[in-house]
Amino acid sequence: MAKAVDRKKQNRFLLIIIAIILVVTLATAAVLFALNYVDSGVYPESGARPQNVILLIGDGMGENHIEAGNIYRSNKLNMERFAVIGEVMTRSLTPGATDSAAAATAMATGTKTYNGRISYKDGKNLETVAEMAKEAGKKVGVVVTKPVTDATPAAFLSHAKDRGETDSIARQIVDFDLDVLYGLTDDSMNALKSEIATENRALCTTFDEIAASDSEKIYGLLEDGSIRTAGTDTLSYLTSSALEKLSEDNDNGFLLVVEGSKIDSASHDNDMESMLAELNAFDAAVKTCRDWAQANGNTVVMVTADHETGGLEIPDFDNADANMAKQEAREALIDYESSDGWFKRTGHTSDNVNYFIYATGTVKAQNAAADESDASGASEYLEINYSEQMNIPEEIDNTDIFRLICQWLSL
Ligand SMILES: [Zn+2]
Repeated sequence: MAKAVDRKKQNRFLLIIIAIILVVTLATAAVLFALNYVDSGVYPESGARPQNVILLIGDGMGENHIEAGNIYRSNKLNMERFAVIGEVMTRSLTPGATDSAAAATAMATGTKTYNGRISYKDGKNLETVAEMAKEAGKKVGVVVTKPVTDATPAAFLSHAKDRGETDSIARQIVDFDLDVLYGLTDDSMNALKSEIATENRALCTTFDEIAASDSEKIYGLLEDGSIRTAGTDTLSYLTSSALEKLSEDNDNGFLLVVEGSKIDSASHDNDMESMLAELNAFDAAVKTCRDWAQANGNTVVMVTADHETGGLEIPDFDNADANMAKQEAREALIDYESSDGWFKRTGHTSDNVNYFIYATGTVKAQNAAADESDASGASEYLEINYSEQMNIPEEIDNTDIFRLICQWLSL
């Protein structure tokens, strides 16, 4: 009797063990399948990866902002000439439209959070792609046209329950020890100025100081009004300076985040003239990055926005003559007294925004299919053109941007 009970117990124990093994095996297979599926969507299985990623964010830049930019220039913006184009969903966990904090958190961490949170959710800090890149030995740079403690840069570099906690954000930005940081200063950063300059890190407060600095790391904290939309002291100049510094003596690649921060403020103000000036300055920085990527290779440039601001609508300019329609649209646009009224709101909307990707470099990647036992010992290589190999869905979520960057940089 006792033996039969023991055997029953043993059998049940065996069954449980088998069940556990089955569950674990199936779960592992599912995860591996999912990883492989995601991975093969963008690059072929070859280990080829771009070395550098530049993410450019036009704050508040909706589809119609870009269309207004086209009408104004009578030509396509630089970002629109990129090979891979699609849309991004921007919603956060807060009902209604997202704010820049939650949207930047989604892009920086791959996790949706509530408006106002800075890479933080439910009492926990969310690891950011900038932290991961630094951990992996890559250089990290951030260039913005508003205070560096503002929501977008903050979400890549710090954690806070509320975007208003700028003293804590400033402390974390100093401690992050970026390779390059350019943007406006504020009281929170000013309070820490004495700690910024170190043996290998310079504190610059003007464009001239930035141009003259040959320090390994650089924090350029500028006064409001000093970053212009035209001339030499522009976002494009700061971006090009950042690219130069990030690529110097660097075999390990970099992540650079650039924000055209004031497209948003101009749109909140329903100020078409300022919006176009900010958008053009941002697009000039896009061109700087594209040219750099073209010259240096192995780089992905992704342009997107965190959300749309201002509910911008472009009226119809139907004319049998397409050129006349274009001319009418341009004349109406640059009459700023009337085209300011094309903005239908003063806040953010939940409209999808665009993404544009330009990737350079044919990288010589080892051909996985090559016969390893090839007696000649010669390795077979595939030329991989990133832009051609990208197969990203036309509509993605803002959290996918984090995943793409991780994949591109092998993080
Ligand atoms: Zn805004």
